[in-house]
Amino acid sequence: MAVSELPVYKERDKPQRQDLDRCVHCGLCLNACPTYRELGIEMDSPRGRIYQMVQVAEGAPISASYVEHLDLCLACRGCETACPSGVQYGRLIEAARAQMESKIRRPWRVRALRRFVFGLLLESPGWLKLAAGLMYAYQSFGFEKLARATGLLKRMGRLGDLEKLAPPAELPTFFQSYGKVFPADGERRYKVAFLGGCIANVSFARLHEATVRVLQANGCEVHVPAGQTCCGALHLHAGAREDARRLARRNIDALLEDPYDAILTNSAGCGSTLKEYHELLEQEPFYAGKSLRFSKLVQDVNEFLASIELNPRMGELKWKVTYQDSCHLAHGQKVRAAPRTLLKCVPGLELREMPWSDVCCGSAGIYNVVENEMSMQILKSKMGWVNSVDAGVIATANTGCMLQLRAGVALDGRGQRVAHVMEILDEAYRAYPGRPAETERPAE
Ligand code: SF4
Ligand code: SF4
Repeated sequence: MAVSELPVYKERDKPQRQDLDRCVHCGLCLNACPTYRELGIEMDSPRGRIYQMVQVAEGAPISASYVEHLDLCLACRGCETACPSGVQYGRLIEAARAQMESKIRRPWRVRALRRFVFGLLLESPGWLKLAAGLMYAYQSFGFEKLARATGLLKRMGRLGDLEKLAPPAELPTFFQSYGKVFPADGERRYKVAFLGGCIANVSFARLHEATVRVLQANGCEVHVPAGQTCCGALHLHAGAREDARRLARRNIDALLEDPYDAILTNSAGCGSTLKEYHELLEQEPFYAGKSLRFSKLVQDVNEFLASIELNPRMGELKWKVTYQDSCHLAHGQKVRAAPRTLLKCVPGLELREMPWSDVCCGSAGIYNVVENEMSMQILKSKMGWVNSVDAGVIATANTGCMLQLRAGVALDGRGQRVAHVMEILDEAYRAYPGRPAETERPAE
């Protein structure tokens, strides 16, 4: 697609009247909204944003102010949990953004970047590996230290600030595991598929490997299907619904024919989108039924493990841990208890709740890059709540949250370690006396 073109948009993708009408303007969602909490501005609250969507539905133009208020929304869906009237805000904001992007022209640099990221980088292992190689060289061969020591990053202003949020590059990437099958430890109880996502394959390759090991330890034969691709969550949040549909069809084609007990992800943002493929493809006769079957098989790995009989052979970890709810797990998938249940199964581990654990940390996909100032303001509030708890580890269940919280610890923290729940379980299994050190070898 040429850079100057507007995204493909279907009229049915705009916010639907019956969804907008569910809002009764009660305001019970306001305190759950991070942007309203920071700014106190009605138009930056869920109720205010829905009001603006209604105005557009009734013929108002898509103005610069409308774009600004919708851009500032994190799509965290905290308001959805708080709403007693069942407003499906996530659905509304995705539709409103798709409509908005079809009517406005972003500056050419933004359009070029969006086309590169959404149309090429996220779904191309080749581009992702190249980006990982460059990032690895920058982070590992002294360039990063040099940039800091010479003050270059400070002189780069906003770009220098963004460098703190850059994902790490972990070589070898997890793409090397595509097409492989990892056997269960002992008797096979389940056959599952694992989705690696996009950037996580190069930035969280070790986390993915830890997740596979935890599943193996729990009797899972883990398949990493070669034909899988990016889930399309970032595309959806940016209003690129047709791109997201294309990726959804590819994942369904690649995974549905094999009889898996579950399709698993360790990233809450991906899981939320994968579980809603049927909403994305409900109008397509060939994919409507398939997408529903696919979505029903998808589970977050925490949800899956908490639903089966967990292997109790874990060593002791005498850690004080606080858990940050990932928005797309707590609000998008309504999964709150499962990660806490798993953490409490680790011998010696003490779980200490922080206040407002389900308020967004400001990560929200690429929000922390494109709306960096607000993201950092929200992160500062989050770190205040994190620091109010005596815990050396911040656990979470989403890779984006991990990056954001690590930046938060570097800026305002007390040296806490940020870890995914799967990394903690993996360490606990490895600490079990007598367990073989390495069990992740593929079967073929
Ligand atoms: S999705 Fe999050 S940021 Fe957006 S209106 Fe709802 S609570 Fe506020
Ligand atoms: S979104 Fe729900 S909670 Fe918020 S104002 Fe509307 S009805 Fe009330």
